[in-house]
Amino acid sequence: MASEQAARSAAAAVDQERLWRRHMAMAEIGAIAGNGVNRQALSAEDIRARALLLEWTGARGWQATVDPIANLFVRRPGRDPSAAPVVAGSHMDSQPAGGRFDGIFGVLAALEALEALEAAGIATRHPIDLVAWTNEEGGRFVPGAMGSAVFAGAIDLASCLKLSDAAGIRLADALEATLAATPGLARRDFSFPIAAYLEPHIEQGPQLEDTGHQIGVVTGIQGARWYVVEVTGEPGHAGTAPLGGRKDALRAAIRMIAALQELMHDPHDALRFTVGRLEVEPNSPNTVPARVTFSIDFRHPEARILNERGARIEAVCQAGAGPCAVTVTETFNRPPSVFPAAIVDAIERAADLTGCRYMRMPSGAFHDANFLADLTPTGMIFVPCAKGISHSPAEYASPENLAAGARVVAATLAELAGA
Ligand SMILES: [Zn+2]
Repeated sequence: MASEQAARSAAAAVDQERLWRRHMAMAEIGAIAGNGVNRQALSAEDIRARALLLEWTGARGWQATVDPIANLFVRRPGRDPSAAPVVAGSHMDSQPAGGRFDGIFGVLAALEALEALEAAGIATRHPIDLVAWTNEEGGRFVPGAMGSAVFAGAIDLASCLKLSDAAGIRLADALEATLAATPGLARRDFSFPIAAYLEPHIEQGPQLEDTGHQIGVVTGIQGARWYVVEVTGEPGHAGTAPLGGRKDALRAAIRMIAALQELMHDPHDALRFTVGRLEVEPNSPNTVPARVTFSIDFRHPEARILNERGARIEAVCQAGAGPCAVTVTETFNRPPSVFPAAIVDAIERAADLTGCRYMRMPSGAFHDANFLADLTPTGMIFVPCAKGISHSPAEYASPENLAAGARVVAATLAELAGA
């Protein structure tokens, strides 16, 4: 089968050394102590990273375009100019104390796949657009995944333009500076038709490394529900108020959290449940806690579990309230993104023909792919990162595993783009 041969040739043309060298070159932009990177969205470092990417793609003669929120696209043309592009990439911005692989791997792996198609002399029917989405991390301007969300129409550009960072710099100004740094680029609209979207990324969890797999064929992105629970009791003197008559908001909160942990027990260990913030008022060692506020972050790949367990959270809190009053407010609810079988199967075929060890898995973290999945058939390819560490200078992925990922990207693109 011609496309299978093309997929094999494309994978074989991936250059591990070049891919690694490019990661290290990008890591110099915004380098911080301990092998970390500080390359926040729409910063001077982000502008330099864009320029370096454009230097590499310009050397191949590929045309770059940019949309009004500075999402950057680079096109390798296809045989059929009227065909919608297959889009592949991720983001180039980092957390303030981020690592050398989160985001940038997806962009560089997509670039390496285009290089490999070129080197192998493979023409595709669809054009392939490499993409670097603006502000995925959300560390400087909240919310994250901003570029992909605006592109997909989930949030509007006007609301983003009003934002400022912690130093008081307006997003509108940072965006203008970023766009002005690449004055020659043609402008493109949001939400143009896309044939398929592929996002390579480091796993940001320990599963691949722990199980000895090189590639995660991502089946979808788990959904999340976030809550704020407010428990109201009554203050009292720690030395005089009798225990029996107290309305101790902290004791009630502890009962609730223990019962919630029971509710969220999962023998398959697929469920994620975190109480990460607890505020006690007046937070004095010798006053009975009058008021406690705590957060719930609850995630799972299946909508059914999110719905069923989520629906019981309030009742569990009420049952634990004792003499206190409790209110439970849901602050965020995003259902899981389930990637279509056609894309997941294509990635699995690609992984299979490259001969790597792969497994199917859901994504625990959010990605730009969340928003693209609303627009077009979407898939993700994970590579292992050491000990699952990310959003840290300690983040590490090996040259061999990055190259394995790029080979799967190249082979998948060959199939999806119609080699
Ligand atoms: Zn990322």
